[in-house]
Amino acid sequence: MSPSWKPTRAVIIAVGSELLTPERVDTNSLWLTAKLNELGIAVAQKTIVGDNRAELAAAIRYAMQQAELVVTTGGLGPTEDDITRETVASVLGLPLREDEKIATMIRSRFKSRGIEMPGNNLRQAHVPRGAVALANQRGTAPGLWIEHEGVVLLLLPGPPREIRPMFNTLVSTRFLEFTSSKRIFRRVLAITGRTESAVDEAAQPVYLRWKSKNLP
Ligand code: ATP
Ligand code: MG
Repeated sequence: MSPSWKPTRAVIIAVGSELLTPERVDTNSLWLTAKLNELGIAVAQKTIVGDNRAELAAAIRYAMQQAELVVTTGGLGPTEDDITRETVASVLGLPLREDEKIATMIRSRFKSRGIEMPGNNLRQAHVPRGAVALANQRGTAPGLWIEHEGVVLLLLPGPPREIRPMFNTLVSTRFLEFTSSKRIFRRVLAITGRTESAVDEAAQPVYLRWKSKNLP
């Protein structure tokens, strides 16, 4: 990506049908939002999509029109319902090829545990042309960094314990080069004994001073 790429807006897409049930909460997006804000990147939109190729493809296309950084989480695993990698490659028109280094790493991970590797694990070694694989210290599915027509697509795994070290490594490596010097800070004022409208009126000068041009 050219050094002039300074992302100020991101869209997060959480992928997984379980996140659309009452049993699971998409906590990754909250964690990612905090980390992106620390980099001066505002989250413009968040989406949750099930393990459905057509819906995920539509969400990716839309997200790429909204922001210069699109972060997905989940769906990078070895099973049939893990479709993020293939769907992104097909939306971008990029062929997938097996990355020999990742394949060897996955094979040796299984070997060191004395487990026979089911063949479908090698799907995790498939990388869209031009993508950079991001090491996963806590699992087999690597993340992917894909640059496409001014947009970066960052594909991260689903399990929170995998996503966190992977993203933290990016903060001190790839993002260091690209992010602007702007940062987003948050201050919470707790007010009691005044109506909402009176507080709103009192806050008007602040709104005027910090019109959206001052925000990332
Ligand atoms: P795996 O190799 O484990 O299959 P994956 O990248 O395919 O990794 P998913 O299968 O989508 O990830 O999710 C694995 C687990 O991670 C889920 O069961 C869930 O517990 C957790 N998870 C996934 N997405 C999220 C999310 N957005 N927020 C919190 N937890 C999540
Ligand atoms: Mg999975």
